[in-house]
Amino acid sequence: MEKRGVLYSGKAKSVYETDDPDRLILEFRDDTSAFDGKKVEQLARKGMVNNRFNAFIMERLKEAGIPTHFERLRSDTECEVKRLTMIPVECVVRNLSAGGLCRRLGVEEGLTLNPPTFELFLKNDEKGDPMINESLAETFGWATRQQLQLAHELTLRVNDVLRELFLEGDMLLVDYKLEFGLFHGEITLGDEFSPDGCRLWDAQTREKMDKDRFRQGLGGVIEAYEEVGRRIGVNFD
Ligand code: 5GP
Repeated sequence: MEKRGVLYSGKAKSVYETDDPDRLILEFRDDTSAFDGKKVEQLARKGMVNNRFNAFIMERLKEAGIPTHFERLRSDTECEVKRLTMIPVECVVRNLSAGGLCRRLGVEEGLTLNPPTFELFLKNDEKGDPMINESLAETFGWATRQQLQLAHELTLRVNDVLRELFLEGDMLLVDYKLEFGLFHGEITLGDEFSPDGCRLWDAQTREKMDKDRFRQGLGGVIEAYEEVGRRIGVNFD
């Protein structure tokens, strides 16, 4: 597949068109951002680590019957994906309280959430990704009821698969964000799954092993991402 011009460049990834109108190339860069792009740094190896991490997770999800846009790895920092029409809604599942939930509701960090919570946010940096709901998404035309229902079901199925996978590596999947799109009308998991978009804690010590290390200036960000990957069997060599 031939790589063509940049279609879109986000905070951590660039998206390229190809000679196939149904396929795109994602490039994972070393750029790391937080707080809606207000904190940005380059972290060596991050592009490679997240590309391989994401490929590993997407393959596991595919095996579990989740439709994903992932096709194959292309290089250390690139993969080939289906071209989706993205739904501008972020789906967040939480198994333990942390981050935005604690800030919004004033609850302490680390409470077990049973059943896990499901939240929707509008993907819009300028507005700070505001929380929305099904009614708003439907009325403003961001997604249909049926699409939201399917995205909800798939997001919870992902939770079943990944909670187990990380637990086998002695880690707790605290929360995560997924984005979906449409491929010829079929709802399909897009974007990426990496420690940039989820929270993972060591199951014994509850040490943070995800992007909170960057957000909170704890250091050892990429070392933590690599440790998470090694524990679940991702190959970074
Ligand atoms: P919170 O609402 O607590 O800030 O985020 C919940 C989960 O979704 C966290 O794992 C966080 O990393 C992820 N998340 C929410 N919004 C974004 C986003 O815009 N970008 C990324 N990379 N992750 C997000």
